[in-house]
Amino acid sequence: MIDVLVAGGGPAGLAAAVHATLAGLTAVVVEPRTAPVDKACGEGVMPGGVAALRALGVEPTGRELRGIRYLDGHHRAEAPFRDRPGLGVRRTTLHHALHERALDLGVQIVPGKVGAVRQTRDSVTAAGITARWLIAADGLHSPVRRRLGLELPAGARGRYGLRRHYHVAPWTDFVEIHWSSHGEAYVTPVADGLVGVAVLSRVRRAYDEHLAAFPALTAALHGAPATAVRGAGPLLQRVRRRVQGRVLLVGDAAGYVDALTGEGIALALTTAEAAVRCIAAGRPDRYEHEWSRATRRHRLLTRALLAASSRPAGARLVVPVASRVPPVFAAAVHALR
Ligand SMILES: Cc1cc2nc3c(=O)[nH]c(=O)nc-3n(C[C@H](O)[C@H](O)[C@H](O)COP(=O)(O)OP(=O)(O)OC[C@H]3O[C@@H](n4cnc5c(N)ncnc54)[C@H](O)[C@@H]3O)c2cc1C
Repeated sequence: MIDVLVAGGGPAGLAAAVHATLAGLTAVVVEPRTAPVDKACGEGVMPGGVAALRALGVEPTGRELRGIRYLDGHHRAEAPFRDRPGLGVRRTTLHHALHERALDLGVQIVPGKVGAVRQTRDSVTAAGITARWLIAADGLHSPVRRRLGLELPAGARGRYGLRRHYHVAPWTDFVEIHWSSHGEAYVTPVADGLVGVAVLSRVRRAYDEHLAAFPALTAALHGAPATAVRGAGPLLQRVRRRVQGRVLLVGDAAGYVDALTGEGIALALTTAEAAVRCIAAGRPDRYEHEWSRATRRHRLLTRALLAASSRPAGARLVVPVASRVPPVFAAAVHALR
């Protein structure tokens, strides 16, 4: 019997497998998609996420990010990251680096989907593999979470995200968040000659219709799309609890608020590390508390921003307020993981 079976080979699952192996545990990852896996994502890894990648022995190539800038056509507010840079990196590049690191350490990555989960007092079996523990890292709409009955209703009017890349030389080394009354466009330089633009909104319409709400940004992109549009949502995912028997939920599967603060990858890596640490210490019961501690600041900040932006009048105030009280904006940027 192996120690850890991991459902999902995204950032959370691969990080969990690497941490498990570094802790002397045997790990197998089950992932249905072929590497390198792409996904709808703003692709800005916050400084804490870059440090978490380094701790895994993973240093993907991308564009260094120096901070966060908010714009709304009339106002602008920016704050640099305090101690260390973030990283703009294509998901495929990030996935390749994590995948290679896992394989180098001897992690077995098998194609397949985790479906039914069977637990006994000492083991858990899924996808035909029996392990001491199952780490569910199967993403925003986690099938494992649903099967275990751990989902909570998230309410109506969910937010969705769409992203596309453009062939254009990056004009900034900041992540730019362009605000409008009905959503945000999130610009991340990810490589030489390549910029990603993710739009986040409650309104469901085509990507180009969203982008039309940001004329200055649209002009800067020179109409040169480099990739197809990818989408994800609804973003808000509420979860009853994160441990059930021998199953621990990590990354987006453990619950998600929104992509607005661009911390999902960092949190995926942090929560994966916490889950493995609890398992290795023989204290999986501690994971719920560790998850809560690791994600608290993110949840508070993201909910506060969402509350402010949930009505058009409030959304119009976000950038002017951020530009008028730079210390508050800087403190919010420093609080990012
Ligand atoms: C529009 C948008 C913009 C974003 N922008 C940013 C950003 O700029 N910065 C940032 O840090 N985060 C951002 N995020 C969030 C970030 O993408 C996620 O938080 C991150 O990918 C979570 O990693 P994960 O491994 O938990 O999940 P995923 O990356 O979704 O990986 C889950 C994996 O599980 C696999 N899987 C699914 N079902 C099964 C199954 N039954 N069995 C086995 N495997 C399965 C999937 O194939 C997938 O590979 C954004 C998200 C969105 C939607």
